[in-house]
Amino acid sequence: MKLVVLGCSGSGPGPGSPASGYLVEAGPTMIALDLGNGTFGALQRAADPWSLAAVAFSHLHPDHCADFSALAVWRLYHPEPPAAVEPLPVLAPADAAERFAAAYAPSVAQRSTTELARVFDFRTHVPQTPLGDVVVRTAAVDHPCEAYALRVEHGGRSLVYSGDTGPCRGLVELAAGADVLLCEASWPHTDSMPTGVHLSGRQAGEHAAAAGVGRLLLTHVPAWTDADAMLAEAKTVFDGPVELVRPDGEYEV
Ligand SMILES: [Zn+2]
Ligand SMILES: [Zn+2]
Repeated sequence: MKLVVLGCSGSGPGPGSPASGYLVEAGPTMIALDLGNGTFGALQRAADPWSLAAVAFSHLHPDHCADFSALAVWRLYHPEPPAAVEPLPVLAPADAAERFAAAYAPSVAQRSTTELARVFDFRTHVPQTPLGDVVVRTAAVDHPCEAYALRVEHGGRSLVYSGDTGPCRGLVELAAGADVLLCEASWPHTDSMPTGVHLSGRQAGEHAAAAGVGRLLLTHVPAWTDADAMLAEAKTVFDGPVELVRPDGEYEV
């Protein structure tokens, strides 16, 4: 598999990167994980948007899903769509269809008449979803809204994406033995961190170590946080290879 980083700036776009979004190429199957602000442009650099097999959303904070509206416009109004296009599976928290209709519609009155169901197949997250020769597994994580970590498996390889989460046993269990853990690291480690929101760099490293993953990729560092400090924190507790991802970066899984 290959991971392409569409954007990795935490909590919103930064001066050097869109917000959170990733493309996973699993053989011929391409799946987008989150589409935060600015990621749809990066997606077009990386792949033909028509070639997506599915989009999976970790949760519905705007920094992870704002560019869904851009994908909707593409699929509804592209002048030369491929023949016989099927609705695109969208794996997401339960209220995604309603939330995306609200974001896409030009007015509250028109929210109920948007045509998203014509081009998207909204599916509530379940523990395991087969998509061709790829399996997407989920685990609920600890964030102020319905949120999931996502595990993509293909050909004996596995990538786990934390989404946004505070310290979470479910993330460790989902990531057990994974080849790559793409994990958020949002703030410096202190004694006064809020609970149930995000991980520090050190906590990202602790989750990687507890899960026994092969490699740790750090992401979701906000523009106001020192990314190198996140990396240094993670390295103090995780002995395996660890690095900060970069926008447009490609990583073998
Ligand atoms: Zn976020
Ligand atoms: Zn969030």
